[in-house]
Amino acid sequence: MIYLDNAATTKMFESSARVYTNYACTNFFNPSANYAKAVEISKALDEARVSIKEKLKVSNGDIIFTSGATESNNLALRGSLRSGKWEYIFSVGEHPSVYNVAKELEREGYIVHFLSLQSNGEVNYEELSKLLNSKTRYISLMHVSNETGAINDIKRVSLLRDKLAPKALLHVDGVQAFCKIDFSLKELGADLYTISAHKFHGPKGVGALYVKNKDSLKNIVFGGGQEGGLRSGTENVAGIMAMVDAIKHIDVIKNYNHVLKLNKIFKEVIAGKTGISFIETQSPYIISLSFEGVNGETLMRALQDDVIVGMGSACSTKKAGNRILENMGYKSEKIKSSIRVSFSEDLTEDEVKSAGKKILQVYKYVWEKVK
Ligand code: PMP
Repeated sequence: MIYLDNAATTKMFESSARVYTNYACTNFFNPSANYAKAVEISKALDEARVSIKEKLKVSNGDIIFTSGATESNNLALRGSLRSGKWEYIFSVGEHPSVYNVAKELEREGYIVHFLSLQSNGEVNYEELSKLLNSKTRYISLMHVSNETGAINDIKRVSLLRDKLAPKALLHVDGVQAFCKIDFSLKELGADLYTISAHKFHGPKGVGALYVKNKDSLKNIVFGGGQEGGLRSGTENVAGIMAMVDAIKHIDVIKNYNHVLKLNKIFKEVIAGKTGISFIETQSPYIISLSFEGVNGETLMRALQDDVIVGMGSACSTKKAGNRILENMGYKSEKIKSSIRVSFSEDLTEDEVKSAGKKILQVYKYVWEKVK
């Protein structure tokens, strides 16, 4: 089995699983308790916050632990709402954990704007400049698209914000960027940044939200006041410690260069073959490609367990009318025939080559059957 759906989730590092077991079974104490063993856990969580900030390359601000990116995004977006005639800016390319919050805000009567996408999947920066004003409360954009691999120029967005809407916060869903592409959060200038452990070999159900200024955020759940009052509920200590173990084991630049090579090799195998086309985007971790005349889901099933690929946008076709590829200008036939391939640094060049060949072979087979 060659697993090419790493944008959906990744395999946990064994070292992280060991750390998980340690904090679940041996050092299992509640970090909010007062005895020495518990205080040690609380200290370990604080060290974990520092490690995350180091990886993000930012020195000020706080890390709030959550149950994953969906919760981090909800906390950032709902926790930053303010009464009055504020405006909120999103893009049509956002993950449902942002997009559906935006839709809900619209239903609740907030003033919500959606930026369209360029044909390369990045947001339309011209539209953004026209929308920004002194009433903009926040802009929420993803760093790397989980569907296409497009990278938004967050630095450009934050500079536009500084110039045209200095009061606005900038929230970035960094799920497909953190621990994959090299960046400095300080340089990007985001105020809120979302991460999720299971996308970089940590456990599922744990993540974090970076918050530059805690006063800009209000809690959305009420309870015992953990995480500085911003996220009540006993912390998922084992998950958090395992997440940080994964972070420490990742060499972002080395992995990026390896994945870039894998991406090139995969494209070399499939490039120029009749009926196959792919979207050129910047993150080497994700390729969205389409197979003329064949349904993406049929192809995915025909590959069985030999090569596991994702459905990406084609999958959301059912759920969300496929707003993303459609907005980028793709016709419905092309969208239906697309799949998403996403890499991890643990793949070898040979695996990627043989996965590419297998996909070609199965495409030919399915095409013969359906033509
Ligand atoms: N944002 C993006 C860009 C994602 O790719 C995902 C996961 N598919 C999420 C948010 C949601 O992450 P989680 O599973 O941690 O809730």
